[in-house]
Amino acid sequence: PGGENVLRLADVTVRFGGITAVDAVTLDVPGGQVVGLIGPNGAGKTTLLDSVSGLRTPTEGRIVLDGADVTARTASWLSRHGIRRTFQRHQAFGWLTVRQNVLVPLEWRTRGRGLLGDLLGLPHRRRETEALLQRVDEVVELCGLSDVRDVSAATLPIGRLRLLEFARAIVDSPRLLLLDEPTSGLGQRETELLREVLLGLVRRHELTVILVEHDVDFVMGLADRVVCLVQGAVLADGTPAEIRRNPEVIAAYLGN
Ligand code: ATP
Repeated sequence: PGGENVLRLADVTVRFGGITAVDAVTLDVPGGQVVGLIGPNGAGKTTLLDSVSGLRTPTEGRIVLDGADVTARTASWLSRHGIRRTFQRHQAFGWLTVRQNVLVPLEWRTRGRGLLGDLLGLPHRRRETEALLQRVDEVVELCGLSDVRDVSAATLPIGRLRLLEFARAIVDSPRLLLLDEPTSGLGQRETELLREVLLGLVRRHELTVILVEHDVDFVMGLADRVVCLVQGAVLADGTPAEIRRNPEVIAAYLGN
């Protein structure tokens, strides 16, 4: 991969009153690339994901998706156009089962309406629902959640919930996947599972990923390219090997 830019950030700045959380970030992300976004707490990583996913309109600058300016688009528009993200705090519905939770974004994307009726098992759309459920079960299995697929999410331990969050983000094959600390709360085996699933997706599809992560080994092992943010600004942008030995990155972040 490495053709057209799926995403282009041009001088994106986000201010909260007097605080500049994201400071003139310019970044091109070609299709099929995994970009790791690292940096100390408060560097602006989550705020940057918020902007790309439409939750926060930048104060200045432009966000371009597949060549079109989407700076002012809403989160739901961007979601319908293939941007998916996960959050540091999972967004699963506690009272729904694992399968139902994975079905929600898929249904929403596929037809938007009729969702509640299907979740409640109303008969009119049963055949359509069966096709979707097949996809749901595929993803549930991929994410190692088959054994708990009919369990309500509220009863899951944190690692499983994080994997569920990930499953919900990938179920409808997003074009651009934004992951906010996906390994937090995961055990070693779960982290390994996540790595394998992500690698598989990136290899098979034209999936483009921005990965915010404090687990440096995880980022370095997955990313084609790593960007280090400090105080909202890009301090360094390079291959994992370049970033690991960059003295400024070591001083600002890796050396801690
Ligand atoms: P962490 O690694 O701790 O998640 P981060 O790199 O994701 O940090 P952000 O959460 O994006 O950093 O925060 C960047 C800066 O913006 C911080 O100084 C933070 O306090 C500030 N900030 C974030 N959200 C808001 C908000 N809603 N209102 C005011 N300030 C905010």
